[in-house]
Amino acid sequence: RTVLALETSCDESAAAIVAGRRVLAGAVASQMEEHARWGGVVPEIASRRHVEALPALIARVLEESGLAMADLDAVAATVAPGLAGALLVGSVTARTLARLHGKPFLGVHHLEGHLCSVHLGDPLPSGPYLVLLVSGGHTELIRVDGPGAYTRLGRSRDDAAGECFDKVARLLGLGYPGGPAIEAAAAEGDPGRFRFPKGRVSLPEGGFHPYDFSFSGLKTAVLRQVQRLAGEGAPLPVADLAASFEQGVAEVLVERSCRCAVEAGLETVVLVGGVAANRRLRRLMGEATAARGLSWRVAPLAYCTDNAAMVGLAAIERLEAGGRSVISLGVAARLPLEQAGVLYAPQPP
Ligand code: ATP
Ligand code: MG
Ligand code: FE
Repeated sequence: RTVLALETSCDESAAAIVAGRRVLAGAVASQMEEHARWGGVVPEIASRRHVEALPALIARVLEESGLAMADLDAVAATVAPGLAGALLVGSVTARTLARLHGKPFLGVHHLEGHLCSVHLGDPLPSGPYLVLLVSGGHTELIRVDGPGAYTRLGRSRDDAAGECFDKVARLLGLGYPGGPAIEAAAAEGDPGRFRFPKGRVSLPEGGFHPYDFSFSGLKTAVLRQVQRLAGEGAPLPVADLAASFEQGVAEVLVERSCRCAVEAGLETVVLVGGVAANRRLRRLMGEATAARGLSWRVAPLAYCTDNAAMVGLAAIERLEAGGRSVISLGVAARLPLEQAGVLYAPQPP
């Protein structure tokens, strides 16, 4: 099966052509620099840039793959969750192409895309597995029992891990997006110089939630440390702060994922999403899973942050299971991953 897939849920416009589990062509146009000036993503600008970027991206992936629209089995686009106006651009474009060329259309859940990104790498061991999804908007532990069969076992109660990287980077005067900037700054730093809190979530009956995360306190702790150091008048040890922060986030992600996998009887931990690009996190996850006799997989580096190839793969898995979306399918700014199946209902809500 071969599909053309579009991704426009936030500030990346992307197109890809995927055949089976192979990416025939993929292209991403990032708007990050444009939004960096405003300190965050401006929805209206994002939509406009998607409109401008998509035609060239689609032409490019078709040309690179050597395929024509007639060769495709379906056209897909991310339809939830994300910025409604931005999602609409990809969705309308994909539905128009599908209708025009008589192909099925598939609306894809962005997080199902991230989950599928791991299938673009080494094959997974058989059986259910645990996914740590760490991105700009989500931090979740998801049990996967098969295509479309998801159970969320843990999540962040406040900031997402990627969001925390972005906020701490701004605080340290590093660039946007924060993840790569922190990673670069941390390379020369001492990860043991500062200790930051692990952000635990209290339960009403006492004790702590074993698999939930909280990152807002961590961000505040870094701020306090920066203020204290600034008060002393010495130059800010940015590398040590970045390394210690990165170490703190990675440790808590790895510890809770491994504990969750062991207690749920899952033998494999899978790392996906933009933050999965982080090398310290990858290294610690490799060490911790090995120590507990677990196996682990991570999405290929190029498919950790937003891309259309992962969306195409998610569409192919749905298509193979007989799924297709109605051509009038809308977009949704919010939609829990567990409900991704509604996108293929004959009469979606
Ligand atoms: P979501 O998928 O939750 O809707 P998103 O699509 O904006 O959010 P992604 O594109 O998956 O998120 O990931 C972007 C996030 O990943 C940003 O917060 C960015 O700082 C972070 N990130 C990217 N590279 C790295 C890295 N090397 N280390 C840590 N974080 C990183
Ligand atoms: Mg993005
Ligand atoms: Fe994403």
